[in-house]
Amino acid sequence: MKLFIHRKDLRTEDLAAFDYLHEAGQPVLHLLILDSFLLKKDREKEHSGVNFLRHVSRLHRQYDKAGRTLHMAYGEPHEVLSHLLKSLKGSEQEIDEVVVHRDFTPYARERDRKLKQVTEDQGAAFTSILDTLMADPERFAEFTGKDGYYKIFAPFHKKWLEYLAHSPNEPSSVTLADLQAGEANPDWSKKFQPPFDLDEYEPADEWEQKLEDFLKDGIREYGDKRDYYPELPASGVNPHVNAGAVSIRELYARAIRLDGSEEWVRQLAFRDFYLYLAIYDEDYFSYEKKYDLSGLTKEHFERWAKGETGIPVIDAAMRGLNETGLMPNRLRILCAMFLTKNLQCPFTLGENYFRRKLLDYDNVQNRGNWLWCASLGANSSPYFRVVNPVTQSEKYDPNGEHIRQWLPELKDESVKTIHKPRKDAIVDLKASRAAAIETYKSIVNGP
Ligand SMILES: Cc1cc2nc3c(=O)[nH]c(=O)nc-3n(C[C@H](O)[C@H](O)[C@H](O)COP(=O)(O)OP(=O)(O)OC[C@H]3O[C@@H](n4cnc5c(N)ncnc54)[C@H](O)[C@@H]3O)c2cc1C
Repeated sequence: MKLFIHRKDLRTEDLAAFDYLHEAGQPVLHLLILDSFLLKKDREKEHSGVNFLRHVSRLHRQYDKAGRTLHMAYGEPHEVLSHLLKSLKGSEQEIDEVVVHRDFTPYARERDRKLKQVTEDQGAAFTSILDTLMADPERFAEFTGKDGYYKIFAPFHKKWLEYLAHSPNEPSSVTLADLQAGEANPDWSKKFQPPFDLDEYEPADEWEQKLEDFLKDGIREYGDKRDYYPELPASGVNPHVNAGAVSIRELYARAIRLDGSEEWVRQLAFRDFYLYLAIYDEDYFSYEKKYDLSGLTKEHFERWAKGETGIPVIDAAMRGLNETGLMPNRLRILCAMFLTKNLQCPFTLGENYFRRKLLDYDNVQNRGNWLWCASLGANSSPYFRVVNPVTQSEKYDPNGEHIRQWLPELKDESVKTIHKPRKDAIVDLKASRAAAIETYKSIVNGP
């Protein structure tokens, strides 16, 4: 019998591993491990953890509806797997192959190394399949014939479009119902029960209607209006994408043939690009060690996190994030640049904060975007790029609607004054901008 382990692929349709298992034609047992490391420090109460667990609950319901069993266990993945393989060893349900989707963060690579080890220790095979990228990185590299990898997005994007036109990556029609059901009754003792009640998590909303509405109405305006966050035509599908409730192939296939979809598809390419960098750029997860960030300071970090900086657009965005787990892309850029540049705080603090707070948190995407804002890494903004949050707020939210929504104390301010720094603002924007340029010049170029 085969074993499939769900991770950030919480769906029952269009999974590359299901194609593989369907082809193998043997019964399959399905397992989801609630990873105690990823859920530590009360993560299950934070927006990112809640989003994941609500999608787990939705997946569980999908298995129930299909009359199939999704086994669930809490703990360190290799311990859970070892327990399962040993308990089925020698029985008719013995597992001869464990199948997962590839994952690219340092933690995930180490986790999968251990999973492979315990699988092979039990005499079974471990198979890891690519699912989460549109463009298979190895085939893409062959197609481009490039020596080394793309470090800059624009040429990557051009080739990525050419590659997908040449080698389409269509959604699969194989679903859970097409796989033979494996039956087993492993003993999930108390040790493997989560320390929280999964029944408290409502199944996540469905992505389908959100995407349909966006493709029908929003996508054509997306390019022009993406940054105008009060009237944002963004799809809002990303919390579902990052839990794997919808595949990236499905998004691409539905969008690519529509008129005016170029800018949105470009964002899907950005997602692939950061995954591609995470695979090929050996410093991707360790730039904080490569650069000397010792001159930076944590001084104002808490005020930033609480939305108490005295810069209205930043405070509104951070309070909105803390409350809802949502933040439009333009506001993420403003908050990240303000923290790393004006406040000269190490990007890793902001990155960690977003890890807990974002509903659509994703390690690879979050890091790539923080590196860009902090002018560090292969594809980054120049060190002298320090956006002015006040002029950006005036441009993208001219009536101050977003500020009024999150800072009720400013709701009666005029459109002229609402964007301006408050008297007690923690930094002077002009002076802190000049200081940031000096600091980042020496971080990026060396002293
Ligand atoms: C500091 C910072 C941190 C970020 N952290 C994350 C994160 O943890 N997880 C995450 O998925 N995105 C992150 N982003 C990227 C971006 O802000 C979100 O992907 C976007 O806001 C999602 O909005 P949406 O659901 O409306 O998708 P849309 O705007 O409709 O975009 C469609 C899809 O394109 C992809 N996409 C859009 N913008 C980007 C981008 N800048 N980079 C990579 N992919 C993109 C997403 O997969 C999204 O589902 C971050 C951006 C910044 C500046």
